Amino acid sequence: MCGIIGYVGDRNAVPIIVEGLKKLEYRGYDSAGIAVYGADSFDIVKCKGRLSELEKQLAGHSLASHMGIGHTRWATHGEPSDVNSHPHVGSQNKIVVVHNGIIENYQQLKERLEHRGIEFASQTDSEVIAQLAEYYYNGDLLDTVIHLSTALEGSYACGIMCLDEPDTLIAFRKDNPLIIGVSEHGQFIASDVPAVLTDTDKVYYLDDKEIAMLRKDSVQFFNLDKEPIEKTLETITWSFDSAEKGGYPHFMLKEIMEQPKVVRDTVQSFADDGENARIIEKLDIANFDKVVIAGCGSAYNAGVVAKYVFEQLCRMSVEVELASEFRYKDAIVDEKTLVILISQSGETADTIAALREAKSKGAATLAIVNVVGSTIAKEVDFCLYTIAGPEIAVATTKAFSAQLIVLYLLALELATKRENVTDEVRQSLRDDIAALPDKIAEILEHIGAIQKYASESVGSKSIFFIGRNIDYAIALEGSLKLKEISYIHSEAYAGGELKHGTMALIEEDTLVVTIANCASLYRKIMSNAEQVISRGAKVLLISNNPEAKKSVGEFGDGSSEPDDRLSLISLPEINELFSPSLSIIALQLFSYYVAANKGLDIDKPRNLAKSVTVE
Ligand code: GLU
Repeated sequence: MCGIIGYVGDRNAVPIIVEGLKKLEYRGYDSAGIAVYGADSFDIVKCKGRLSELEKQLAGHSLASHMGIGHTRWATHGEPSDVNSHPHVGSQNKIVVVHNGIIENYQQLKERLEHRGIEFASQTDSEVIAQLAEYYYNGDLLDTVIHLSTALEGSYACGIMCLDEPDTLIAFRKDNPLIIGVSEHGQFIASDVPAVLTDTDKVYYLDDKEIAMLRKDSVQFFNLDKEPIEKTLETITWSFDSAEKGGYPHFMLKEIMEQPKVVRDTVQSFADDGENARIIEKLDIANFDKVVIAGCGSAYNAGVVAKYVFEQLCRMSVEVELASEFRYKDAIVDEKTLVILISQSGETADTIAALREAKSKGAATLAIVNVVGSTIAKEVDFCLYTIAGPEIAVATTKAFSAQLIVLYLLALELATKRENVTDEVRQSLRDDIAALPDKIAEILEHIGAIQKYASESVGSKSIFFIGRNIDYAIALEGSLKLKEISYIHSEAYAGGELKHGTMALIEEDTLVVTIANCASLYRKIMSNAEQVISRGAKVLLISNNPEAKKSVGEFGDGSSEPDDRLSLISLPEINELFSPSLSIIALQLFSYYVAANKGLDIDKPRNLAKSVTVE
């Protein structure tokens, strides 16, 4: 959510910042801006809208400077508008700032400053940082930033420059991510690694309450007591290509197609010498009598899938919580609870808060994250990584699939430690999981039927997703995927719930996507499908059950369909427990092609952001 980039060095900062902002577009934004150091003042260009709009405006200025900061804003306080866009400069035009996050006490600070005659130009919470910095400034920007850090409450990642300090760019943070890139021609600050990868693979991860002071040839780090601190320079091992579209029209399609590899790599991380295997080894499951899983959006849905798998394999009770609810509900967890936090970015604000809440109550915490060095990865007791590589599209696909794999293998290892499964069963279940990449690839090779069905569903007003047991869990994710990128209203229901209300919404031609992989419940879910068909609905069945083919004939293969209200996307066979990993591929592709047919901005859906770093 929001992107920050800053540069100080030998080259012109303007094109570097614009290119960096493009690499951060995936995080979601509604306006953009840039400020560069000028001889007598800062040159600031900012506007509501896409980066292309900013580029148009920049074309009318001849900006050039050795130092500058840029920002893509995802508005939290004050509407998206030119004046509310970042960077924000104080009323003396002396200090300029870009900010990601929310200043929770901005109202009190603003009132105090207004009382002293300072006039604010915008409605944002962020402007208070620039105004307060000018108010505090005593000739030393580092002192000012330390002072700011004690006054500001809430979350922030900031880049800041002062007109009196032509060589200094400072970055500081609390609860929002920032990295520092080091290159031969200059130094960078950025919200995320892709923004700097063209210029360098050498980065520092800034931690909470740390300050980075960047000059053309140096980076120094300080704590809030102004003591210098040592940090480790990390080398990024993934390539810039993996953050590029590679010929696909959208990142989302590219990331869907990468799933066989991502799943294979993640499975591999649980092999005997794998990183994740070593971490699980340290987890003493005998300590726990309860598991709680917390996440937001798709990560929460992965948790719902996991509940079925854990309960089945480990025979222990599992609660799944929305992180945004868990953090405020005075949850009943203690040292005998294992709290599992799931977050692709490792920076999801609500999940970070849930982690801290769980830790404060003495629970053991384990996280499943994709981004190495992220806040959750650092703060949690045990961290398992999804090996998904950078995920750029806002709607998650490959990271979700990798989360499922980590959860299956975690459940299986815990079940083994608890002696709920024998070694033979364990091996056979591991073989089933290891077979997933090939089966996912098989679905990806036959996308024509899904494409065709999606193109026929573009005009739908509402689409429902139903399933039972673990099929219901994955229906939740199918429905979320569709609404995120196609803007079609959608809900997921447990099949048995239809008759308790939802059936009232079924009209002539309403589409009900029915997931039917649980063999023991196949008849039950098919009878739900019949109930909606008899009320005028059309059903798209997603199933690996051999009976499904018999009843409808395989959709898209030219064979006749006995009932034109019932169509089938047939999946490869797999152990029922792991079938969500196959269902989700069909569901992702369905959503993708519906949105593509509508010509929507698939990688950057309206109002959404990739990494939700604010509450
Ligand atoms: N809260 C700030 C604003 O609304 C920053 C939002 C962001 O992180 O982009 O301007």
